[in-house]
Amino acid sequence: MTAVAFACGHGAVDAALRLRRACPVCMLIAETHRSRSELLGRVVPLERAALAIETRIGATYTWRCTRGHDRYEASIREALTGTGCRKCRANAAGPSVRREAGVPFMNPGLRTRTSMTEQRLKTLLGERIRLQHRVNAVHVARPFYGRLEVWPDIVIPELRVAVEYDSPGRSGGAHRGLKAGSDLEKDDLLREVGWDVIRIRSEGLEALGPNSVVCRGLTVAAVDEVVVLLRRLRGDDAVDALLVRAEAS
Ligand SMILES: [Zn+2]
Ligand SMILES: [Zn+2]
Repeated sequence: MTAVAFACGHGAVDAALRLRRACPVCMLIAETHRSRSELLGRVVPLERAALAIETRIGATYTWRCTRGHDRYEASIREALTGTGCRKCRANAAGPSVRREAGVPFMNPGLRTRTSMTEQRLKTLLGERIRLQHRVNAVHVARPFYGRLEVWPDIVIPELRVAVEYDSPGRSGGAHRGLKAGSDLEKDDLLREVGWDVIRIRSEGLEALGPNSVVCRGLTVAAVDEVVVLLRRLRGDDAVDALLVRAEAS
């Protein structure tokens, strides 16, 4: 095996191969909105030092259940994306989950990572249709990165439609490959509970399903297309009821 070092600082110290991306563990931590220190707080003390420099998401560790149940063995991937210990997993499949599925809500603890572009999307779309600012999450029926909720960029409760803005990001790798798979999984979870997702795919990203708006950047025309898709998905009456002002056409 070739020793590699990653941009996050993890990996072999004397590596012959230096990669420009973060290690798999750091990437999954970012993807799941966690931090390595949070992860270190969940592993048993004896394994903390090893986990601090771990780069393999398949590596198995012993975790303490955050809800105070028994310790359990799981890979880092499972620890970050699963619903916890056996007891927690049983609870997650319970009836209250099915009752809440599809219900939008405000998660006040949600780490805000609103980019300028997302802010601009909110502004541009908000000029067309009334957007609620008190919802940022939707309950789903199966766990997504360990939580029974997803956090779309924009949630339109009245139409049960979420709008996402995807760009390749500075590294060029976001929303492609593995990340695109995770985007599709999120869309599936929302569809399962009666929602649809419109994805604005910018700067060279290919369409991801029929409800994609492919564009070079976030423009008024792209937002126009979002409104067209909303009409196609939910009908003119439902969209007209949310219009900020009568559209010119
Ligand atoms: Zn790392
Ligand atoms: Zn538990």
